[in-house]
Amino acid sequence: MLSIEIDRAACQGEKACVKRAPRTFSLDRERKAIASSEPGDDEATIRAAAQACPHFAITVRAREP
Ligand code: SF4
Repeated sequence: MLSIEIDRAACQGEKACVKRAPRTFSLDRERKAIASSEPGDDEATIRAAAQACPHFAITVRAREP
């Protein structure tokens, strides 16, 4: 289980995360990234998407059970 945090002030809506993990990330009406409460991508894909963010806006952590 992962905890996904998005820094909305840092997010610039460039969609690198959405392109890499489209079943987890999307943009809201303000063109800020949001993460699904039930991510549809595997952990490696989500972590790769977070690392692809050019503004370091995504933090992924393992969530305690
Ligand atoms: S890649 Fe980063 S800046 Fe781009 S939409 Fe995702 S969180 Fe926002």
